[in-house]
Amino acid sequence: MSKKIKDFGIEKTLKNLGIKEENRGTSVGGKYFASGKTIESFSPVDGNLIAKIKTSGESDYDKVIEMAEKAFKEFRLMPAPKRGEIVRQLGQKLRQYKDDLGKLVSYEMGKSLQEGLGEVQEMIDICDFAVGVSRQLHGYTMHSERPGHRMYEQYHPLGIVGIITAFNFPVAVWSWNTALAWICGNVTIWKPSEKTPLCAIACQNIMNEVIKENNLPEGISSVLVADHEIGQKLVDDKRVSLVSFTGSTRVGRMVSTNVAQRFGKSILELGGNNAIIISKDADIDMSIIGAVFGAVGTAGQRCTSTRRLIIHEDVYDEVKNRLEKAYGQLKIGNPLDETNHVGPLIDMDAVNMYQEAIKKGKKEGAKFIVEGEVLKGKGYESGCYVKPCIAEVKNSYEIVQHETFAPILYLIKYKTLEEAIAIQNDVPQGLSSAIMTQNLREAELFLSQAGSDCGIANVNIGTSGAEIGGAFGGEKETGGGRESGSDVWKYYMRRQTNTINYTAQLPLAQGIKFDL
Ligand code: NAD
Repeated sequence: MSKKIKDFGIEKTLKNLGIKEENRGTSVGGKYFASGKTIESFSPVDGNLIAKIKTSGESDYDKVIEMAEKAFKEFRLMPAPKRGEIVRQLGQKLRQYKDDLGKLVSYEMGKSLQEGLGEVQEMIDICDFAVGVSRQLHGYTMHSERPGHRMYEQYHPLGIVGIITAFNFPVAVWSWNTALAWICGNVTIWKPSEKTPLCAIACQNIMNEVIKENNLPEGISSVLVADHEIGQKLVDDKRVSLVSFTGSTRVGRMVSTNVAQRFGKSILELGGNNAIIISKDADIDMSIIGAVFGAVGTAGQRCTSTRRLIIHEDVYDEVKNRLEKAYGQLKIGNPLDETNHVGPLIDMDAVNMYQEAIKKGKKEGAKFIVEGEVLKGKGYESGCYVKPCIAEVKNSYEIVQHETFAPILYLIKYKTLEEAIAIQNDVPQGLSSAIMTQNLREAELFLSQAGSDCGIANVNIGTSGAEIGGAFGGEKETGGGRESGSDVWKYYMRRQTNTINYTAQLPLAQGIKFDL
């Protein structure tokens, strides 16, 4: 047994993160509301019950919204760099709690400890980024067509930002949204996944400390631990100016329609169906590492996981054989043990979907070169461990067009790069894409307007993961939203054009005369 697992005690971790019996639920700042039903959080690592959590009921929901509205009236008046200072302090706290929070992420979600810690690092990085942005919320100034007039644009906060998140990034996505939302002067209400409520409560506890130490209104940050029905209320609520939704395309479609119906704003970060093109000019060693990590990392449960490999016919057999060999060496087991490569799926529903996808693929003609299976026996008691598998397919198979959130990798052969790009783009989703090539012409074509149609297009790195400095998100059924870096802060603000007349005349625009 590795040292990391031996030293891991969930009780101690929960205690260090301030998670007690009486505060396992919805909180606004330091106040707790829990009139709803009780849910249980089980670890996919060993199947053990981690804790019971009280959810919010309908009456709690309104209190949360009212406290957020009240806090917004105050928070919007704080200068943006001062709000940046609040986010800087959150980043400092996250550094302090990194080990415990990373462990909880790993144990409650099932990703490797390294990835759990990496997720917390991503939170720290986005806080640092947002602190800088808090001094750069700038708009354009432009020359007026009228004499003695000045024109400029400025950005104002929106109000309440509702954040609904998926299970697979149980802490990072909250901070991607909150760090920017707060420096922009908004207040946030977070509805985390029911599958990872403890991670959310831990984040809120950390932010509660910052709120208390700075004597801020509590409603700046809330976590709404609740089921999807309360999530739906957040989506439909006119008082919530922006809904930032991260999750499946199925739910995202509904969120998008309902928010648009009430003329609210939304940011949608939905499913991906990501491919790597492996050219005949690729560095094959690098390609294999990129493909295997992309396909089996987080047990295939990243929105950016590699689902398809589009391989040139000249190197197809070599890539296929080397993948087969690499998959034979994968160690599957407890993700807190750093010697393992692949951890569990989140729950039995995910295991069933994995099995269904394999069955469906076979029915459509998929030829499995590495077979999948649900693992049983010692170390696999949770029932959530599955074997990563590889199948040769046609891109047109229904199952290939669909995102299965599990480690199933599809191989597709191509002859010309134009054909490979067409295959890569011929799926409903448009999140992440990559080409492995040492040929400049190929790389540039892939990145050109005739190339990848995804929100992320990489050369000589895989599809999986992204740095926080760039805008993150995808096109088509991935939803079109952007989060994280670059100028994404603009999504969290409303834009206003101002014209000031400093003369004693009132000239109208476009030369129009209106004499009285
Ligand atoms: P999911 O769609 O099942 O759930 C996401 C969230 O939506 C959860 O908090 C859930 O409670 C909530 N929800 C469900 N029904 C709702 C409703 N009617 N109203 C309001 N909220 C509702 O997704 P999941 O299984 O948790 O996560 C996996 C999916 O998320 C994958 O498709 C993955 O690609 C996607 N994802 C995308 C990104 C991205 O940035 N593009 C990042 C992470 C995950």
